[in-house]
Amino acid sequence: MTEPTDFDSDDFLGDEFDIAPVRLTVDLGALIDNWREMARRSGPAATAAILKADAYGLGLEDCGAALYEAGARDFFVAVMQEGVTLRSYAPDARIYVLSGIWPGQEKQFYEHGLVPVIVSEEQLAFWMAVTAEHGDHPCALQIDTGFNRLGLPLEEAIAFAEDVSRPASFSPVLVMSHLHSGDNPASPLNRTQLESFQRVAVAFEGIPASLSASGGIFLGPDYHFDLTRPGIAVYGAEFVNGMQALKPVAKAEGRILQIREAPSGSTVSYGATHQLSRNSRLAIVSAGYADGYPRSASGSGVPIRAGGTPGAFGFVANTRVPVIGRVTMDLTIFDVTDVPEGDIRAGDYIELFGPNIMVDDVARAAGTIGYELLTSLGLRYERRYIYPDD
Ligand SMILES: *Cc1c(COP(=O)(O)O)cnc(C)c1O
Repeated sequence: MTEPTDFDSDDFLGDEFDIAPVRLTVDLGALIDNWREMARRSGPAATAAILKADAYGLGLEDCGAALYEAGARDFFVAVMQEGVTLRSYAPDARIYVLSGIWPGQEKQFYEHGLVPVIVSEEQLAFWMAVTAEHGDHPCALQIDTGFNRLGLPLEEAIAFAEDVSRPASFSPVLVMSHLHSGDNPASPLNRTQLESFQRVAVAFEGIPASLSASGGIFLGPDYHFDLTRPGIAVYGAEFVNGMQALKPVAKAEGRILQIREAPSGSTVSYGATHQLSRNSRLAIVSAGYADGYPRSASGSGVPIRAGGTPGAFGFVANTRVPVIGRVTMDLTIFDVTDVPEGDIRAGDYIELFGPNIMVDDVARAAGTIGYELLTSLGLRYERRYIYPDD
C-alpha cells in the first residue's frame, strides 16, 4: 500500500499551460483584425461571423464573444446546440443555424431566438406549419445554385418567391446560397452561380441576400450582396488558392518528452519505414494523430509519401525540423539533428503550426486543407486565449 502523500494541494495549481502535453494559443486580437479586414473588403455589405464547428476548432465561446465585441451581429453556426451556446455570448445578435430545423427543436429555436436556414422543401413545409401554429419567427432560405449540397432547388425557390398564396406570416430575413469554387477565382462556375443567385435576389426583392464566404469576397463587389460570410480567412488560414492567409490566429504546440541520440543505420517509429543516414538527434513530441496531427503528415510510411513530397515540419529554436517516420497516436518524432545541441531540451515545446509553420503547409503535407486540421484538434489541448488588450 502506498502511504498518503503530503503534497500541498497548491502543488497541483501550477499553470497547466506550462506543462501541458499539447497546447493551443488563440490570438483573439488577430481574429478580430482578420474579421475587420474581411469587413473592409466586403465594402458596404454587412459582414457575418461564422462560428460553426466550435469556431473552426478554436472555441465557440471565446471567439464568439470576441467577434461580438468587435461588432459582429450576424452569426452562423452549423447546428442548433452551437446556437444555444452562442446565444449567451451574443445576446442581441442574429444567429443563423445552417442545417435548419428538425421536428422537436421548435421550442429551442423560439426561446433562444435562433434563425433556421431552411435547406429543403421538407423543411420549408415543416417551417410553414410551425409558424402557422406558434406564430411568426424569422427564417432564412438556402437556395441551391449548383453545389448540390443543401438548399431549395433554384426554380422552385423562384416560383415560391412569386407565389402570391405564400402566407403573410412567413417572413424570411435572408436568402442565401453558397459558392462551390469561391477559392478558385479562375473558375467560370463562380459567374454561373452568381447569375443564378442574382435571379434569386431579384425574385425575393426587399429581403437581404448573401452569397459569399471568404473566397467569394475576393471575387469582387458583384458577389457581396447585403451580407458576407467569411469563416476560414478570419481564423487565419488560406482561403483563396495561392493567396497568403491573413494573420495567424492559432498556434498549436507539443511538448518534447525526450531528446534521443540515434545511430546512423537505425530505424524510426512503427514499421521501421525510415532508416537514419547519419547519427541523429530525435525529439519525441507528445502530440499525435489523436491530437489531430494527421498520420498522413508522417515523414515516411504512408501512401501519400509515395508521391515524393516531404512530410510536415515543426518549428523549434528558430529551426524548421521535419517529422521523421510515422506519426503515432500520442507521439511524433522530429529530426532535430540540425538544431544546436544547447538550444533544445526535454520539456521545450515545438510548434506544430502557428506563426512559423503555416497550418496550410501541414495540411498540404497531409493531403488535406487547413479547415480540417483546425477542426480536428482533439480534446487534450490546454488552451490559452490572448485578448486584444493583454
Ligand atoms: C462554412 C461556410 C461559410 C464560411 O466559409 P469559409 O470558406 O470558411 O469562409 C459560409 N457559408 C456557408 C454556408 C458555410 O457552410
